[in-house]
Amino acid sequence: MTVRTRIAPSPTGDPHVGTAYVALFNMVFAKQHGGEFLLRIEDTDQQRSTPESEQQILKALNWLGLQWDEGPDVRGAKGPYRQSERSALYTERAAQLVEDGHAFHCFCSAERLDAVRAEQMAAKRSTGYDGHCLALSSDEVNAKLTAGESHVVRMKVPSEGECRFQDMLRGEIIIDWSQVDMQVLMKADGLPTYHLANVVDDHEMEISHVIRGEEWINSAPKHILLYQYFGWQQPEFCHLPLLRNPDKSKLSKRKNPTSILYYQRMGYLPEALLNYLGRMGWSMPDESEKFSLAEMIASFDINRISLGGPIFDVEKLSWLNGLWIREELSDEQLADQLINWALNREQLMAFIPHARARMETLSDIAPLGAYLISGNLAITAEQLQQSGLDDEQLTAVLQFSLWRLEALQAWQRDAIFAELKGLADQLGIKLKAFLAPLFIAIAGTAASISVMDSMQLLGPDMTRARLRHAIDLLGGLGNKKLKKLQKQYDGLGSDLAQ
Ligand code: GLU
Repeated sequence: MTVRTRIAPSPTGDPHVGTAYVALFNMVFAKQHGGEFLLRIEDTDQQRSTPESEQQILKALNWLGLQWDEGPDVRGAKGPYRQSERSALYTERAAQLVEDGHAFHCFCSAERLDAVRAEQMAAKRSTGYDGHCLALSSDEVNAKLTAGESHVVRMKVPSEGECRFQDMLRGEIIIDWSQVDMQVLMKADGLPTYHLANVVDDHEMEISHVIRGEEWINSAPKHILLYQYFGWQQPEFCHLPLLRNPDKSKLSKRKNPTSILYYQRMGYLPEALLNYLGRMGWSMPDESEKFSLAEMIASFDINRISLGGPIFDVEKLSWLNGLWIREELSDEQLADQLINWALNREQLMAFIPHARARMETLSDIAPLGAYLISGNLAITAEQLQQSGLDDEQLTAVLQFSLWRLEALQAWQRDAIFAELKGLADQLGIKLKAFLAPLFIAIAGTAASISVMDSMQLLGPDMTRARLRHAIDLLGGLGNKKLKKLQKQYDGLGSDLAQ
């Protein structure tokens, strides 16, 4: 058997370090067995998927040095490798399941489903589809279909017993079928859900080992059932432990930068980041901390993965990155790295249109632009306080801006401005006073170019990291303060709706 593994990201945001981590383990496992590693884009969620996000994911994984043998940008025998180009296949498979009696048409309205859910919650029962449309006769179903009634296709799930399956790291996993919902396989818009497309593609692309994050364990019974319904051999399953923040919570962009682009922007070396990700739950047999991708492949043993949640600690990563810079790069190579990273024409060209009006000598560029290539800025609480707002207002301005910007889809100057202006109005703070602490947090000075332009140039993750740093300088936010702010923030939303 040829070992074939895959990473199957959904292009719905910035490329996540978690994606790189799972991709790394998939690739290393395949290469160690002389196998193949694929990249498949799971873009069945048309609302949230964007071509830009897909590009960013490919670029970020490439930057890290992870190469795939087949994918949307490389030829392969099992393509296309983008699910939006494989729709006909899923429609056909869903029809087959209905015909074989493993799936059924469901015409329930969103209101009915909401009501059922509310009732289940009130009765403290587990929530899920109640099987209403299973009772329809085939004549009734046909009549509704002919009348063009909106519908989905759901899979049938046993009402009793349990699903047992082997996980490569966890041994036997047992989940009661009563915990498994009659999953929608085809949505009303005729597109498949993740579950159907994922199983069909893993089969068609001859994936031998599904190595993915542990958040998918509860989906595995649905997938296993689909393999059985189709009469296909199921792949081996391996659910990797989730990356965690130092406080053990799930790694999330609310607490830590999670975008690979941020780490690139901060000046981490791809080799060092990959090395660090390789240490997430895994260690070299000789426990050495610094190793290359080739060394990892040569020594890899999937059974050495430990299940205790690996901590993604930026300080540890920085330490390792320092080792890579000092031990692996000659002066020449370090100069090349710096040029590739940010000391180049492209970066200058992004900044010059904003900077030129403020320049008298060429050397002005250094103080004007240093903040754009720095990591965390050496600012103080006093600088933030000079804006004239009191501490409570300051934290509100910073935290609310953070929340607004976290929700922003397109990272673009005018959109950023609209959000911040809206927030200033809602808070009843003059725009100038509102922006003053943001200038300090983002650029370290009020004399910089427009703070919205700075944010656009810095990108979302670096912007968020700096806002968080400023909040920390003001004493940070404990749970109590955070709850209070959240309440106030939610209140702003309802004012707006009135
Ligand atoms: N598209 C899923 C994701 O975004 C893939 C999960 C899987 O590997 O099965 O993570």
